[in-house]
Amino acid sequence: MKLITDFRNSEISRRLIKKIEEESSSESGYTIMEVCGTHTVSIFKYGIRSVLPENVSLISGPGCPVCVTSQGEIDAIFQIVKNNNVSLLTFGDLMKVPGSSGENLINLRSEGKDIRVMLSPLDAVKTAAREPDREFVFVGIGFETTAPAIASAVLEAKNMGLNNFSILPYCKTMPEVLGYLLDDPKLDINGFLCPGHVSVVTGKNIYQPLAQKGKAAVITGFEPLDILSSILQIIRQVNSGDYCVYNNYSRVVSDNGNRKAVQIMDTVFEPCSAVWRGLGELEDSGLGLKEEFSLFNSLEKFNVRVPQVSEKKGCRCGDVLKGHIKPNLCPLFSLQCNPENPVGPCMVSSEGACSAYYKFN
Ligand code: SF4
Ligand code: SF4
Repeated sequence: MKLITDFRNSEISRRLIKKIEEESSSESGYTIMEVCGTHTVSIFKYGIRSVLPENVSLISGPGCPVCVTSQGEIDAIFQIVKNNNVSLLTFGDLMKVPGSSGENLINLRSEGKDIRVMLSPLDAVKTAAREPDREFVFVGIGFETTAPAIASAVLEAKNMGLNNFSILPYCKTMPEVLGYLLDDPKLDINGFLCPGHVSVVTGKNIYQPLAQKGKAAVITGFEPLDILSSILQIIRQVNSGDYCVYNNYSRVVSDNGNRKAVQIMDTVFEPCSAVWRGLGELEDSGLGLKEEFSLFNSLEKFNVRVPQVSEKKGCRCGDVLKGHIKPNLCPLFSLQCNPENPVGPCMVSSEGACSAYYKFN
């Protein structure tokens, strides 16, 4: 199948749903985590939850970088913008995420701060190059999907000799958070729908620990047939007890990933410990700038430390990200917390689990 429409073929979908019904025979049922926020949205958009048998349940995971950015990291952005004469460059999803004080970047912009939405890290470098008399700070959030582009931007800034550009190094990596989930005694998952975009860069080996610990791991695309056939693959692995990492997105993901992208990432970044919203500090789960790129680290440039901040009272984002509860079980869901007035980032981000539940339920 070549065309994207082929991956939405209703006749094949029906056949896959029938196969899932026939083969999901285990009495203990099947709990599957879709790690990535983009999967969560596709699952809702195509009504996939509603066509699955009752004993096959999907829960959302920590796969949206906006959602896992810690409150301290958000507050450090505010500190830099408020205390320095800088222009902030950011992806749009961060604009409505509230800081501890309740204000967001839209509020700061209306107060006269220069905050601009960027479509890519390279655009941020070009912007800084065009205005050499202004100081620019780019918020570098993302997983392995975005980290190579952020690393390229830093390399480009270094090659151009830009001294008015720096980044907040907030990227996080997937294997460590998957390890955290595997060790969570409260979480009983049979298999993972592994993120397609991350896998394009990393390849499939990063998921081997899942299979080694008796979990099905299937790398998945974002169309209905991708997701349904991956669910069937997970059910088959659980039934047979024969666990492996299965690449069900081979039209885009090669087993070894994109070595060039990994090499660029490794040139600029090194593993560091990072605090994930709701999950706490996970060793080696962040990407810090290497010493030779420290001039491009906004935290060092503006002498800011990421503060330790607890999350908003009542907000259950942490439990949502860990898969402990579904978003509608948060007491604030759709009441105090909705897309117009979000309390936590899971309701802000277009691919956050709370936002998807709100929009599609
Ligand atoms: S919502 Fe934004 S940050 Fe989160 S996964 Fe989607 S594009 Fe990435
Ligand atoms: S509904 Fe709002 S407050 Fe509750 S977990 Fe989701 S984002 Fe956080």
